[in-house]
Amino acid sequence: MECPSCGVEMVDLAGDDQTLRKCGECGGLWLDIADLNRMLLHRNLPGLETLGGKMNADAMSGQCPECLVDLVRVEGGEKTEPLGYDTCEACGGVFLEEEFKDAQDFAAAEKIIIEFFKRFSPRTKKKVAGG
Ligand SMILES: [Zn+2]
Ligand SMILES: [Zn+2]
Repeated sequence: MECPSCGVEMVDLAGDDQTLRKCGECGGLWLDIADLNRMLLHRNLPGLETLGGKMNADAMSGQCPECLVDLVRVEGGEKTEPLGYDTCEACGGVFLEEEFKDAQDFAAAEKIIIEFFKRFSPRTKKKVAGG
């Protein structure tokens, strides 16, 4: 599978029963919606559908390497720290442009993914009492 951003072949990061695809060029990561949701639910986080985020129709995203349709940009996060990911409406694939360059294996990449979606949906954070 080719990276939606640079068009170079991505590398497989194999987990126990899931496989992530990482681009060695830009450090982006491609993952299946089912795998992502399983990962999130495993950490007691809501699935991607309920994490919110706003679609940005003006953003230029790449194409889904599987369906060859344009990806849709979804933006979220804090105002001070905006985050975004690209998703394919046809297959539900998700492309994260976070820095995965240092993630050499599945476990390392999974950690970054979880951190990303925790920050993406600030509502999932515990409220600070008395703030
Ligand atoms: Zn890339
Ligand atoms: Zn697709």
